Amino acid sequence: FRKSDSTSVVVIGLGRFGSAVASSLVQMGQEVLAVDEDQALVERWADELTHVVQADSTDDQALRQLGIADFDRAVVAIGDDIEASVLTVLALAEAGVKDIWAKAITRKHGRILQRVGASHVVYPEFSMGERVAHMLTGRMEDYIEFDDEFSIARTLAPPFTWDKTLAESAPRTTHGVTVVGVKRVGQDFTYARPETEVRAHDHLIVSGPTRLVEKFCQSR
Ligand code: ADP
Repeated sequence: FRKSDSTSVVVIGLGRFGSAVASSLVQMGQEVLAVDEDQALVERWADELTHVVQADSTDDQALRQLGIADFDRAVVAIGDDIEASVLTVLALAEAGVKDIWAKAITRKHGRILQRVGASHVVYPEFSMGERVAHMLTGRMEDYIEFDDEFSIARTLAPPFTWDKTLAESAPRTTHGVTVVGVKRVGQDFTYARPETEVRAHDHLIVSGPTRLVEKFCQSR
């Protein structure tokens, strides 16, 4: 396998997380080299992912033979086997891969990955659990929190905004949040403007400090 452009990504580990990353990348038109030590998984993904090879990613010689040093970006999607995950990140970093995304299953695991060269550590189960909790209690349909406690959420329009323009209900003054978009049933999202009128059953995209976004979504 020879990577043909700078957007190619190597994905190591084709478990649930890695295979989802790899197939999404392929759907987005990115070139992906996928690696797993499990031959059965390699065969299972061979059709969907164009370049799938069987190799042990903790073996730096094997990685070198795959031309890993030519890649700028890698995703290490090995979770349960912490030793393999750490050794793989280390091998990629030593090979000069600059942008290494790695999945961790615990905070300690994540800290080690950062130490050995991961540029981004993700905690898929932890993050999803946190999001579900926020969505459950905060009446949010979707929710993303950034590191600095700033969030963007999708929610049903709270009653106090119904049959008023955003200038009239003034969520920024009353709740300290910004309504970014409004969606009416059967229509696309539109950017919110002061003169945008909100009705019952509309969906809103709201941004602001997490605490205030939650309050807004729960308000009546
Ligand atoms: P998930 O929870 O996302 O399913 P897993 O940790 O169960 O993740 O899956 C990790 C995948 O990584 C498995 O398919 C496993 O075969 C693969 N894997 C583990 N160690 C290595 C290694 N040293 N080299 C290559 N692939 C590996």
